Amino acid sequence: MHPSQHPHASSPYSSSPHASSPSPTGAPPLRLIAWEVTRACNLACKHCRAEAMPEPWPGELSTAEAKALIDTFPETGSPIIIFTGGEPLMRADVFELVRHADSRGLRCVMAPNGTMITPENAREMKDSGIQRCSISIDAPEAAAHDAFRGVPGAFDKAMRGIGYLKDAGVEFQINTTVTRNNLDRFKDIFKLAEGLGAAAWHIFLLVPTGRAAQLGTQVISAEEYEEVLNWFYDFRKTTSMHLKATCAPHYYRIMRQRAKAEGVAVTPDTFGMDAMTRGCLGGTGFCFISAVGQVQPCGYLELDCGNVKTTPFPEIWRTSKPFLQFRDKSAYEGKCGVCEYHRVCGGCRARAYTMSGNYMAPEPLCSYEPSRG
Ligand code: SF4
Ligand code: SF4
Repeated sequence: MHPSQHPHASSPYSSSPHASSPSPTGAPPLRLIAWEVTRACNLACKHCRAEAMPEPWPGELSTAEAKALIDTFPETGSPIIIFTGGEPLMRADVFELVRHADSRGLRCVMAPNGTMITPENAREMKDSGIQRCSISIDAPEAAAHDAFRGVPGAFDKAMRGIGYLKDAGVEFQINTTVTRNNLDRFKDIFKLAEGLGAAAWHIFLLVPTGRAAQLGTQVISAEEYEEVLNWFYDFRKTTSMHLKATCAPHYYRIMRQRAKAEGVAVTPDTFGMDAMTRGCLGGTGFCFISAVGQVQPCGYLELDCGNVKTTPFPEIWRTSKPFLQFRDKSAYEGKCGVCEYHRVCGGCRARAYTMSGNYMAPEPLCSYEPSRG
């Protein structure tokens, strides 16, 4: 799984905060919820935010609490629900919850790690209303992927799981976390995704929290990110597969800079949903709900914005302080507050928090100096 997925565009994972008007409550409509339905996981990946354990966390939402939470989601907009974990398939009632959400008209997607997919649960995904699965693959072959995941056999099992998804007719996308180790393997990972028949390939910039904090040497520099994101901009022109840079808010700055230099207008016709969305949607169109009900801007940013066990979820979305700050340009400090690309980027608040202790500080992995700064 990947905790902060904002999957995407003309897909079940689509989100377009700029295209929509405010909800009657004044809060922006919620587009996407990553819901950690359990923290239990069968793997122990090195970059895992959740530091997941084999057993459920004490205090995880009961079936009744989870269903009551689902019932509140439509009050915030028409969010897509990403059933994530931990490993969502470790939760025994997960398909009961998916069915419940589906019956409320909510689009459901799932982020399993791929190793627990069987022909039976793949069919259940299809039947319960899962519209897409995202599977994380961080290297084009087993040895490097397993080493990164810290689990021998993880790659082969994920490939087998993808086969079952295909048999059951469940669409899937590949997610790849960018690290120093796999930077030069990107084309091969893309080719693998293409060969498998993935609907999309999303690259994620590493946020050094949880177990990933120990991967310090794997975090690439601001200059290297600039290079990767420029490469990504060019590479996406070579394929019809949907590619997305996620948790790389400054990609949306680079996209506009490059398009301008090429004399291309950024419109839905030329860039699809990338023309409509914002780099970081945390608190503005996206949020994360932890296994025990804590609401956060995203899975990497463990700010306690309120708990659904004590405060109605729509009220948290509407009124929590960090969410209000993220919606207010004047609350952003340093260059992200004065940047001409603020509206489409905003910088990663989780990296700001992890690397400086202040979640409103400038994005540490952006090398841009705003002209109005
Ligand atoms: S704060 Fe960073 S990690 Fe979280 S959603 Fe925004 S860009 Fe992604
Ligand atoms: S300075 Fe901040 S808002 Fe501007 S492009 Fe960089 S990360 Fe984005």
